[in-house]
Order: sequence, then structure tokens, then C-alpha cells
Amino acid sequence: MTKHTSLQHQPCINNQLSIGGIALTRLVNRVGSTPFYAYDRQAIINRMAELRQQMPPELKIHYALKANPMSAVVQLMAGLVDGFDVASAAEMKTALDTAMPVEHISIAGPGKRPAELSQAIAAGITINVESFNELETIAQLSAHTGIAASVAIRINPAFELKSSGMKMGGGAKPFGIDEEQLPAVLRRVHALELDFQGFHIYSGSQNLKAEALIEAQQQSVALALRLLEFCPNGIKKLNIGGGYGIPYFANETPLNTQQVGDALNVQMDIVKAAQPHAELIIELGRYLVGEAGVYVCQVVDKKISRGQVYLVVNGGLHHHLAASGNFGQVIRKNYPIAIGNKMYAEQQETVNIVGSLCTPLDILADKILLPVAEVGDLVVVYQSGAYGLTASPNAFLSQPSAEEVLV
Ligand SMILES: *Cc1c(COP(=O)(O)O)cnc(C)c1O
Repeated sequence: MTKHTSLQHQPCINNQLSIGGIALTRLVNRVGSTPFYAYDRQAIINRMAELRQQMPPELKIHYALKANPMSAVVQLMAGLVDGFDVASAAEMKTALDTAMPVEHISIAGPGKRPAELSQAIAAGITINVESFNELETIAQLSAHTGIAASVAIRINPAFELKSSGMKMGGGAKPFGIDEEQLPAVLRRVHALELDFQGFHIYSGSQNLKAEALIEAQQQSVALALRLLEFCPNGIKKLNIGGGYGIPYFANETPLNTQQVGDALNVQMDIVKAAQPHAELIIELGRYLVGEAGVYVCQVVDKKISRGQVYLVVNGGLHHHLAASGNFGQVIRKNYPIAIGNKMYAEQQETVNIVGSLCTPLDILADKILLPVAEVGDLVVVYQSGAYGLTASPNAFLSQPSAEEVLV
């Protein structure tokens, strides 16, 4: 296996991977059992600090909890980012339990139930409106409670974010309201007693191409400014999404965030000239936490089938669907993996790593070259800080869940 570009300098203590300054076997003892996810606090702090340097100083950076809603992580993020974006009532509760001011929290997602909308209105967070029906429900709930809901319109733009892992805008989509329908929806918003904040445009996720992100950012700003004509009081917020990706596979190169930040400077000036008091916001999940987390499981069996070596671990796709290749990958590829207690050992055995679920889907690595591993050794899956435990079918085959620690 070609060594992963961003993994060439993993910190080690003796022969072991170190996470948050703790040697892996010691961390296993501290957690008390395997499998578990460990998130490195300092890695998250460093990632944010670096991003701040690269982005325009006035840009607001929000964290999308969906990537990793562990409450300790969200508490840490509350001190690092400018706002939170949530996508359910439970995520809203996690966000409201932090010190983040409610004006900087928003909720997005299709199919928000009246109960969730009422909670969001009572909390005073901004609701990113996804449809005409949702707008009417919010207006009724606002009238009923006497609290003018804070709303932004989520726009499904006519353009697409090119080369994105997951496209969430352009064409027919369940997210947001089509750009063409915006004049009508804005007329309705202004006829209702709502606290109109501005726009939310989220075009896609997991993008490693600076040029594609830059183009989408430009198009998002241009679209919002065209719509100002239908906003008699202007806008207070313009959330242009994110989609900043991280490299997972050996052939991928990290996103050039400096280039994206430089281009955003230009957009910041354009927004300021048109709407001096509006906040320009990006919202990121994976980019902020994805590289700061590992999934750790233990080899419980080693066997040979017709010449191929299988390491069977005590975890699997029920904890880490994405590493198994079943979370939106078209062709299955191996996540970067190490034997965490044999970091300096030579890679000399090609193995398949499978989980303990009785299904052929439960693959963590397919023909990967690693140090010779035995029962009891620790398998570490990198790039696991985002879309890990909560993005996996925990209940499938009724195996135990995994712990999560922030170290
Ligand atoms: C999923 C999502 C995000 C976060 O995406 P990442 O790829 O983790 O950065 C942000 N905003 C919205 C609306 C989303 O749906």
C-alpha cells in the first residue's frame, strides 16, 4: 500500500501509535475495552487554528454536528468555531448544552417535524427553511407562540458543485427551495411575521478540488446578491456551505485550503460592498474533525482461507460503515490502516481485515500490506473522526457498541 500522504508523520511512542500523547496500549487500558473511537483534542485545535490563518479574518466558520455529534467534541468546538449547524432535535440539544449563543446556531434538513420546529423557535435558533410547506408551518407556530421565528431560506441553486463526493444542490434535490422559486418564497416570507436572516446554500460534501469549491463559492455569493432585489431589508447572514474534503485513499491529495481562503477574500469584499452588516458563513464538518479521529479494534482471530490471510477483529461495519466502503463509495477502497502496537515493524504480510458481523459486507481492509499481526494486536483505522459511529448501523447483528473518547 502506498503510504497515505497525511499519515507519514504519525506520532509514536516506542513501537506504538500515540493519540493525544498517550501510547495506544495505555489508552486501551484507560478506555477499558475495545473497540473504541479516540479523537485527538489538540489535533482539532490545530486544524481550526490553521484554517483561521488561511480564511478571511471576518469569515464565520460554523461546525456541522452531523459529522461528529459526540458531546465532548461539540463542547470543545463551542470554544473554537463561530457557530453550529444542527440537523435534528437531538443535535440541537447537544448544541444548546454548550455556551454557543443561540443566534449562532441553525437547523437544516428536510422533513423537520412541527415539534422540532417549535423547539427551534422556542430556542431562538435560525431555521433553514427547506420548502413552502415548512415555511407555512413555521409561520403558524410563530403566530401561535408569539415568537417571530428566525428563518433563512435554504436555496437549491441551479449550479452544481463539481467533483464532490456527495452533491446536495443543483438539479432536482430534496434539499432547499429551487432558485427559480425564490422570488415567490421571499414575497411570502416578507408577508409573514418572521425574523428573516438571509440565505443558506449548501451544494455538496467531500471535495478536494480547490477550483471547484472556489467556483461554487463565487456562484453562491452571486446568486445571493441577485436575490437582494427581493429582500427589502437586506440580509443578515449568508451561509455559503462548505464541502471541504479530506484525503482518504492513497491516490488523493489534500485540499489546498489556502487557495480557497485567498479566493474567499475576494468574495468577502463583494459581500461587504453590497451588505456591509451581513455575516459571510461557511459550515464544515468532516474537514474540522475527520483527520483527528481513529477507530481502534483488536484482532480476535487469524485464519487462512485458500491462501488468503484473514484478520478477524472485534469491531466492524456496525461501528464504521464508511471504512467498510458501504457509505456512498462506488468502488470499495481501503481506509489508511495500521497495526497500532507495531508501528515500526516492517510491512510484510498481505491480509484481509474483516469485522465480526456475519455478512460479506463487513470488510475493513482488502489485501492490505501490514506488519505480521497476531490475535490481540490493535488495528487502527485513520481518518475516522467524522461520519464514524453515528453514521453506522449500530444495531445490525446486535453486537456491542463502541466507546468514544476525546483525549
Ligand atoms: C452534511 C452537511 C454539512 C457537513 O458536511 P461535511 O462534508 O462534513 O463538511 C454541512 N451542512 C449541511 C447542510 C450538511 O447537510
